[in-house]
Amino acid sequence: MIIYIDMDGVMCQLRLNDLKLAYKKARKENPGKPFPPPIPGFFENLKPIPGAIDTVNWLRAWADVYVLSAPSVRNPLSYTEKRLWIEKYFDLKFCYKLILCPNKGLLRGDFLIDDHKSGKGQDRFEGRLIHFGSSDFSTWQSVREYFQNLAPH
Ligand SMILES: [Mg+2]
Repeated sequence: MIIYIDMDGVMCQLRLNDLKLAYKKARKENPGKPFPPPIPGFFENLKPIPGAIDTVNWLRAWADVYVLSAPSVRNPLSYTEKRLWIEKYFDLKFCYKLILCPNKGLLRGDFLIDDHKSGKGQDRFEGRLIHFGSSDFSTWQSVREYFQNLAPH
């Protein structure tokens, strides 16, 4: 079973507001620049969402789990920091399963756990979308309960 798991808003605590505030601050500090420069540490320092690390490790024990994240192109540091984040909270081994891709519909697999139903190709993913944050999957506990039935006994 192949399971893809998104980072921002699924494994990492990222509220859109945090991003907006960080960019607002960067803009203020760099007046006149069309785009604020990348904010070092922004992605690396995101906190894990409660239950994410434990449940992802539990899934990794029996399924083929990949991290599938769309990069933040205007912040080139995101490419490196996402990789650093995975090693920080998981291990080096899991970094080999990190996919940074702007179109999640291109990947083949059984499940995609994502907090957005569209925007990065989620709506074209052929497997089942587990919409994290929706009423059915509001927490990692509910995701775990769902997959409990699919795990080998
Ligand atoms: Mg997301």
